[in-house]
Amino acid sequence: MKIAVAKEVREGESRVAMVPELVGKLTALGYEVAVEPGAGERALASDEDYEGAGAQVTPDAFHGAALVVSVQPLEPSAVRRLAAGTATLSFLPATQSPELVADLRDCGVTAFAMELVPRISRAQSMDALSSQSLVSGYRCAIVAAGLLRRFFPLNMTAAGTVPPAEVVVLGAGVAGLQAIATCKRLGAVVRAYDVRAAAAEEIRSMGAVAIDLELETLEGTGGYAREMTEDRAARQRDLLAPYIANADALITTAAVPGRQAPLLVTAAMVEQMRPGSVVVDLAAESGGNVEGAVPGQVVRIGNAQVWGGANVPSQMPGPASKLYAQNIVNLVTLMTRDGAFDPDFDDEIVAGSCVTHGGQVRHEPTRALLE
Ligand code: NAD
Repeated sequence: MKIAVAKEVREGESRVAMVPELVGKLTALGYEVAVEPGAGERALASDEDYEGAGAQVTPDAFHGAALVVSVQPLEPSAVRRLAAGTATLSFLPATQSPELVADLRDCGVTAFAMELVPRISRAQSMDALSSQSLVSGYRCAIVAAGLLRRFFPLNMTAAGTVPPAEVVVLGAGVAGLQAIATCKRLGAVVRAYDVRAAAAEEIRSMGAVAIDLELETLEGTGGYAREMTEDRAARQRDLLAPYIANADALITTAAVPGRQAPLLVTAAMVEQMRPGSVVVDLAAESGGNVEGAVPGQVVRIGNAQVWGGANVPSQMPGPASKLYAQNIVNLVTLMTRDGAFDPDFDDEIVAGSCVTHGGQVRHEPTRALLE
């Protein structure tokens, strides 16, 4: 049986779904691996590296494949060329792309979405949202440190003492905690806030100060946050304003599943920041935590440079691809039975991540959109 590795075609996507180092894990499971030419180029993996690892590099990689792996969903033109019964494994924001889901259904493709892998302990090694958030959180901290024209750490020198930078991180999920950890390693003083009660302990365990706004916490289902009411959002903004005004760098990573990112910081709050301060908004692409942040750009608001994230994991394509490929290997291992790609739809990880199968849309929220 063959697994095909797609060359990503979406603009700005530099990752690849399988790296040469992990091809051997798929061949050990009994698969042939076929890679589209140039698939790993932007992640610094050459066609020769794939061939050296035992893969075949061919423009015809999808032909006869049981499974096609990619980071972004396949383009509709590629979906229509797949034989019925082929499976795909990629990020697939199903409710945001109902037409593509309809194509996958109508072509008889079994499509799995990485963002739908249930966030249970057994699936941690398959969780690409977490692996890619780890990359994003690290990158946000490094961008903030790079844009800030001052030291992160305290320096005590013969010429005098330089105080450490003050960093505020909003949202302490996987990306936020990694941003906190990275800023702490660089020596900054870090304060952080999240709406979930459990986050305060996690923030403290990273050596940061958990900001307590004395507001009600907002736990949703599955360990995620709930959406704020506009009244609570306004109170949160008022209470956060002095922390933000006092920060040299502000990093925002807040998200609520299936919703636009919450607006946590208005332009007026950014205008209160000191000259030379820096804002990094990881959520810029999904609506923005910071008013005025533009994905993929650095804009000036008041005294601050405001950096808007755009496909942030792709900005570190090598490590992001390796972690993603490891998630893929672990999912493929789960879906391989008796040496063949044969997902068990009674398994909650398989069932939970499946969007289309056998000409049906299995992801209920997307099915409802298509009815
Ligand atoms: P996410 O990307 O959905 O959100 C990022 C963070 O933003 C979350 O911590 C959320 O609470 C926070 N947030 C939302 N609204 C906010 C607001 N108004 N103000 C401040 N912060 C706000 O979350 P995530 O990083 O994917 O993870 C969320 C949770 O899921 C965490 O508890 C994490 O530990 C858990 N998790 C579990 C597993 C697993 O068990 N396999 C895997 C990954 C994450």
